[in-house]
Amino acid sequence: MFLLRIQRKYLKNLKSKNKVAAFRIKHPQRRNITRVVTSYNDHKADLRIDFNEHCGYCDCWDKFKTTYYEIDHFVPKSILTKKLKTDYSNLVYSCKSCNNAKSNQWPTNDQNICNQNNQGFIDPCQSDYALQFERSDNGEIRWATELGKWMFIALKLHKPHHAIIWQLERLGAMIDEIRQITVVNLNHPLKDDLLSICLQYIDYENQLRELQ
Ligand SMILES: [Zn+2]
Repeated sequence: MFLLRIQRKYLKNLKSKNKVAAFRIKHPQRRNITRVVTSYNDHKADLRIDFNEHCGYCDCWDKFKTTYYEIDHFVPKSILTKKLKTDYSNLVYSCKSCNNAKSNQWPTNDQNICNQNNQGFIDPCQSDYALQFERSDNGEIRWATELGKWMFIALKLHKPHHAIIWQLERLGAMIDEIRQITVVNLNHPLKDDLLSICLQYIDYENQLRELQ
């Protein structure tokens, strides 16, 4: 019910400007996986679990993927000296858009310095990664810090699919929750909301399809 209350409040505020939401709800957390593998792709299933099926950088859910998800090396392969390319602690579950945008960008020649002077990156598994960004009411990502601004540009977080997928995930969760409530109480007043939420969901699905 917590999520539903949040979403109802969100719907009421849909047209209000200048309101922001947290960048992401669930935070990724890598397990300490030290298993030796021959290819970093062998870690993909574990990364998908640890990143909650979301891109580490933009938080888009892979359920709505427009392309297959990939594995990003947080410290680019070209910078790596001590870490192995298969080192789990350096891998990020990433959508193709973010992986392509980040590419070999790195602010220093030192694999241990990921940012300096508000330029560079924060590992998405660090809790302060999410503090660099906010969400507008329509799901658009905004930077909240100067370092966030640098990453926003580097990762091309302005792309419209980020907001659409954010909306789809939240509207989908609302639909699921209302269905669970109304299946046991057919006269529940939330049933009145269901049609309008479903129609919004379909609108966003169509918008996402038009981007492809
Ligand atoms: Zn992404």
